[in-house]
Amino acid sequence: MFTINENFCKLPESYLFSEVARRINAFKQAHPEADVIRMGIGDVTLPLCPAAIEAMHKAVDDEGSSETFHGYGPEQGYPFLREAIALHDYKERGMEIDPSEIFVSDGAKSDTGNFGDILSADNIVAVTDPVYPVYVDTNVMAGRAGTLADGAWSKIQYLPVTAANGFVPEIPAGDHIPDVIYLCYPNNPTGTTLTRAQLKVWVDFALKNGSLILFDSAYESFIREEDVPHSIYEIEGARKCAVEFRSFSKTAGFTGVRCGYTVVPKELTARDSEGKEVSLNHLWNRRQCTKFNGASYISQRGAAAIFTPEGRRQVKEAVDYYLTNAGILRQGLTEAGLEVYGGVNAPYVWIKAPGGMSSWEFFDLLLEKCNVAGTPGSGFGPAGEGYFRLTAFNTLDNTLEAVRRIKEAGF
Ligand code: PLP
Repeated sequence: MFTINENFCKLPESYLFSEVARRINAFKQAHPEADVIRMGIGDVTLPLCPAAIEAMHKAVDDEGSSETFHGYGPEQGYPFLREAIALHDYKERGMEIDPSEIFVSDGAKSDTGNFGDILSADNIVAVTDPVYPVYVDTNVMAGRAGTLADGAWSKIQYLPVTAANGFVPEIPAGDHIPDVIYLCYPNNPTGTTLTRAQLKVWVDFALKNGSLILFDSAYESFIREEDVPHSIYEIEGARKCAVEFRSFSKTAGFTGVRCGYTVVPKELTARDSEGKEVSLNHLWNRRQCTKFNGASYISQRGAAAIFTPEGRRQVKEAVDYYLTNAGILRQGLTEAGLEVYGGVNAPYVWIKAPGGMSSWEFFDLLLEKCNVAGTPGSGFGPAGEGYFRLTAFNTLDNTLEAVRRIKEAGF
């Protein structure tokens, strides 16, 4: 009889968003007149920009004619998109990334989740806490996490990021050296960032100890402050120790269209058990060619259009809209007496629940008193307890109204 990968059975049911939905529905049933403003979702709300729409319309037409039809494309992505990424996301910012180091995909969730395929099951994995849950859950599936007790996995190293350390993960002490370190900046869920100097500490650590950094910069386009790196490759030596994941989802509203990419530099190597040097670029290419048939031609044409002058202007306008909302949340909630973090270079604000309340207590209070729904921080990891996330992806009007209600309630 066949058997299963029992690591999957270790995963608890994804409780966070279903419990959020359950509580909102229960509240709406009890208060049908209440106009609940949802600020929990991490999905964009603005439509795609005209440049991407136009490019995708044209790509659809290409598929309708035998001269311009595209069937299976290169598994790594079309050269037109890989070259545009290498030029605009890297070269123009002073970094040398070759198109052959860029692997276009259907998004950063798949890539961050799949990358573990080419890593040994013995690796010790470190994540910041709170964390985007995909990193942890996919390592559970791969058998790297151990057992779950009190919300934490026994073999995963948690690097707390809280107000106490300014949301900067500290280098592990002593001989607790992780092999693989997931860093996500600008961060989901806290909305905070690292400066170049703070990120350099991690690059130096990885180089010294032979660790691999998996750097998720899905929110790169929200960066507005000078001292915040747009890419880990701005830091010297990162090409030898880091993989970078990017997404068009939040940059250009591609959450439904699907397109992202992963950078695996050629200098990034590991040793196999016989001491032979192995290229991660080569392994990832092999993995992708075997398991992935490329992102759709239409999505890739849409993604390439956001690098045109009008595309860049249009996506910046959309990101600016969300950042305006984030600024309104930051300022308004601070004026309401709350402790607020993030929201300057990210679409998330991270709030300390007042008066020692738990994340869920504050969720219930905000829903009851202000009819505003967010996401309890405890759902993102043990160190998220006592915090709460609001997103800037709602409309400007709803954001203003939510802030008005929260200020009126006062905390
Ligand atoms: N990485 C982080 C940190 C995210 O927050 C998200 C989406 O919310 C993703 C990756 C997923 O991006 P994509 O839509 O490209 O799969």
